[in-house]
Amino acid sequence: MERLIIGTAGHVDHGKTVLIKALTGVDTDRLREEKERGISIDLGFAPFKLPGGRLAGVVDVPGHERFIHNMLAGAAGMDLVLLVVDANEGVMPQTREHLNILELLGLQKGIVVITKIDLVDEEWRQLVEEEIREELKGTFLENAPVQPVSALTGLGIEELKALIDAMTKEVTPRNAAGPLRLSLDRAFVVPGFGTVITGTLFSGTVRTGDMVEVVPPGVEARVRNIQVHEHDVQEAQAGQRVALNLSGLEKEQLTRGAVVSTPGYYRPTALIDVKLTMLSGAPRPLKNLDPVHFFLGTARTVARLLLLDREELRPGEAALAQCRLERPLVAERGDPFIIRSYSPMTTIGGGRVLDPSPARHRRFRQSVLAHLSELEQDLETGGDEAFVRQKLEELAVADLSRLARATRLPAERLKEILEALRQKNVITSLGESFTTRANLQEWETKILDRLEQFHRQFPLAPGISRAQLRGVLPPAFSLREYDALLERLAVDKITVRGDLVSRYGFTPTPSPEETEVLGRLARFYEQGGLQPPSVREAAERAGADSRRQEELFAYLVSQGTLVKVTEDLYFHREAYRGAVELLCRHFASSETLTLAQFRDLSGSSRKYIQALLEHFDQIKLTRRVGDHRILRARNEQEPGDRIQ
Ligand code: GDP
Ligand code: MG
Repeated sequence: MERLIIGTAGHVDHGKTVLIKALTGVDTDRLREEKERGISIDLGFAPFKLPGGRLAGVVDVPGHERFIHNMLAGAAGMDLVLLVVDANEGVMPQTREHLNILELLGLQKGIVVITKIDLVDEEWRQLVEEEIREELKGTFLENAPVQPVSALTGLGIEELKALIDAMTKEVTPRNAAGPLRLSLDRAFVVPGFGTVITGTLFSGTVRTGDMVEVVPPGVEARVRNIQVHEHDVQEAQAGQRVALNLSGLEKEQLTRGAVVSTPGYYRPTALIDVKLTMLSGAPRPLKNLDPVHFFLGTARTVARLLLLDREELRPGEAALAQCRLERPLVAERGDPFIIRSYSPMTTIGGGRVLDPSPARHRRFRQSVLAHLSELEQDLETGGDEAFVRQKLEELAVADLSRLARATRLPAERLKEILEALRQKNVITSLGESFTTRANLQEWETKILDRLEQFHRQFPLAPGISRAQLRGVLPPAFSLREYDALLERLAVDKITVRGDLVSRYGFTPTPSPEETEVLGRLARFYEQGGLQPPSVREAAERAGADSRRQEELFAYLVSQGTLVKVTEDLYFHREAYRGAVELLCRHFASSETLTLAQFRDLSGSSRKYIQALLEHFDQIKLTRRVGDHRILRARNEQEPGDRIQ
């Protein structure tokens, strides 16, 4: 079985369905109404045995203008198209419209089939062929082979088969290793069997027993059975037409246009950024936010197109736009789409998806237009680098899984792109996460500016707390990412000491007046010994500016002159050391120590002694047991605990 879909295209009654019957033996007009009216309404499907024995899928589309939406659903999955033209009638309106659609969808390969040649003479046939050639100039079919046939007499049918066989060998197979994506075109109930959906597998592989998700609506189901060309198979791959029997689903939950995929992979979107091209034959310009019919894959909805750089798009022009969809659908970067005017319904343009999950844009924004132009270039070169860089910029900072969710790119592909971007010095890692170089520069500037400002405001303070400094960064930063950023800057831009961060090389230098005030403060505390003054009292007596109290004390602590025991209680380092010595000497001969004992030993008062002992408990020098204390063994103290 080949992974290959051959489709038809062309005006109504030009002989598409009869041709497929001549090629495959299958009458694809399966609806009763189709048989009665002798006209194709919906898509028809048939397996097609190529001369070498390989089996391909055929999608026969309706030609009537009223059923173009069905034609579009079928055209989305074609690898090779047979453009059918009646030898009698020549090129007709839907010949042109179908050709436009195939062109906009980016189809690469096709054969022109002139049908019903039993009805015309050679001279007429040649005229028709010339007319067709003229029509195809500048399209993907410009140099396509032309095959005249008669389904009635069988003339040219074998030649056509041979042509198809040869051409299919040039088709590049779709990616069977990619994410599972099947665009649903039919859903029905088989009595005694359950819900069956059919569609073309655009990418990936599906196996029986797999769990899949149908989006929208976003319901999960198990694949009970798979058929390709009416044969049961264990797995089906990209490029095949498949029927899936899904358990746990109601037919009512399913509509044409839904996507069957790996659970959690796709999310429907109502906003899509695109590059839109208007057909040169469009009857009139498209105005900003004009409603249009929008077709992507097998899905259709009404959309309004926000023209990002102009008021209207004239026939033959192309522009960047944001589509606002009435009904959300699944889209992927690079997907082709078609638009038809609201009324009268005719195909007026189409293009490609640049970003399937963009932010809401405003019009006439240079930055938005620049971003989208980059994404367009990205697509043209078959890459995603600009796309990934832009998403990372939007996120500020992100790890692999967050970035995978934002870009919808498979993790392996994403890793490759990130590596390439890193080598080009466009992005950089922060621990396990990533940020762009430009962003990193921005964070760095913000942090350094904040530090400058802090040092200017508090020239004596040794640094700003980590938590306070974090406020300058976007909330997207996790604690780990923040730590990684600080670590990076700590090489030569900042100094991190415990909880405090300062500018690299910053040393608080008091002015002569401050030096005097500091000297006085130190002296008061030295004189106070184990009965030191309160912060306010000391500051007042030393003549310190009350607004700078905190900073002055922080400075003395950072210098090791004072030891902070509580918010309001500081000891001079000599007095503090004396207290620790007293304590240790006491424990050299006793097991326990009470508050009263320590008070008597130190000659201080209860107020100070209680605070000191609680502090000793806190730094794990002592432990309180009932109303006395014991000395903690050295090994009970955790690393990092230090007697100050
Ligand atoms: P479709 O709308 O393009 O699918 O056209 P059909 O395949 O339904 O054919 C339309 C009509 O053309 C039918 O009445 C066919 O019998 C007729 N027809 C198709 N192919 C030929 C042919 O090769 N020779 C003749 N004489 N009639 C044909
Ligand atoms: Mg038909």
